[in-house]
Amino acid sequence: MQHAIELDALRTEVGAAAEPMANAVSACVHCGFCLPACPTYIELGEEMDSPRGRIVLMKEVLEGGLALEEALGHIDPCLGCMSCVTACPSGVEYGELLMPFRELAEGGRSRWWLDRFWRGLMLDTLASPRRLRRMLRFGRLAAPFRKVLPARLAAPLSLLPRSADRAEIAFGTFPAVGERRARAVLLAGCAQQVLAPRIHRATIEVLTRSGVEVVVPEEESCCGSLAFHAGDAPRARAAAGALLRVLGPTGLLPEVDAVLTNAAGCGSGLKEYGLLFAGRPEEETARALAAKVRDVSTFLAALEAPAPPPFAQPLRVVYHDACHLAHAQRERTAPRRLLAQVQGVTLVEPRDWQICCGSAGIYNLEEPELAARLGRRKAEALLEGEPDVIASGNIGCLTQIESHLRRLDSSVPVRHTMEVLASAHGAGYPAPAR
Ligand code: SF4
Ligand code: SF4
Repeated sequence: MQHAIELDALRTEVGAAAEPMANAVSACVHCGFCLPACPTYIELGEEMDSPRGRIVLMKEVLEGGLALEEALGHIDPCLGCMSCVTACPSGVEYGELLMPFRELAEGGRSRWWLDRFWRGLMLDTLASPRRLRRMLRFGRLAAPFRKVLPARLAAPLSLLPRSADRAEIAFGTFPAVGERRARAVLLAGCAQQVLAPRIHRATIEVLTRSGVEVVVPEEESCCGSLAFHAGDAPRARAAAGALLRVLGPTGLLPEVDAVLTNAAGCGSGLKEYGLLFAGRPEEETARALAAKVRDVSTFLAALEAPAPPPFAQPLRVVYHDACHLAHAQRERTAPRRLLAQVQGVTLVEPRDWQICCGSAGIYNLEEPELAARLGRRKAEALLEGEPDVIASGNIGCLTQIESHLRRLDSSVPVRHTMEVLASAHGAGYPAPAR
């Protein structure tokens, strides 16, 4: 029996996302070029765990030819890394199919109550700095017992940072050093401000020394990207709605040149606000905000500010592409340019740059076994470059890679790109050293 996606029916379920979903399905010509770029296909070797296979599965569910629960066993392990998008020669926007599908699936699936509770707990905790701080204290007490705990409970404990970062997150306005070239909002974010507030301080340091006046609004917290990428669109909209009220057209947005983030996952989610709010009253505001969002590396490279002072010692930097920067935002050039322009830096390209490290939002908490396989693979590939420091632009990747280096008995430091640049500027940031 032939099926076809019933657009009218789909519109009643997913609203304005129906067309992009149908377009993604029909654009796929099943060539298979995306398969070698897909981490789950590499690890599991099954067609149904590849982008092409998943597109077919989602299509069949949308056409009514396959029960949702039958497809989810292959859709859930998808990392949402978008490596298939940059690999696809036909321009299939897989994310525009996957994200609304996940929202649809959340409404139609039956989750075990413990599963639902665990998910909600993870998303709420990571989105709230206050809750996360409390949970970290508890996690440090429980960490010695992680080997006897089930994988799901042990996963967050194995990701705890090597040491507590005691830097203070800073809010307010930070004037440009020297001539002002731009004025920008810097989002303080949620989990990162607890796990690694030093990244925030380093980013302000680099931006202000590059002539940017930085505004960090205190009222802002989670942007909702973590929940959106996990398929929990209502939770994502609640968080994003609050951000729109702080930054929207009547807030700070008209007064700044850009809204900056130093977390690639947040940047890609913020740029997808149009999809998140498609067909809703907030859509216009959401699109206006999304249009001003930049990853901090993109913004800085475009400013063409003078390079930081040279490092006293040569520094071998292996750069890891965060999927949400390289694939979702298609930004690979800017961070490399910023790092390579510092004298003393040798930039080393790791093998398999396009393959996800297994972090992917809360993926390493929900799918710990597969995430651990990818984490180990990534840590080994990065170490082959014999780095003095590994740099990347996303807190999830930094945490995941650091945890897997630890398991390989490696003490190579893992730093945000902005931290490497801040250390070149001096200002209390020593050059990363083992
Ligand atoms: S998603 Fe793109 S690369 Fe993959 S099978 Fe379809 S057309 Fe080919
Ligand atoms: S998003 Fe990543 S894991 Fe999912 S199908 Fe595409 S390449 Fe594979």
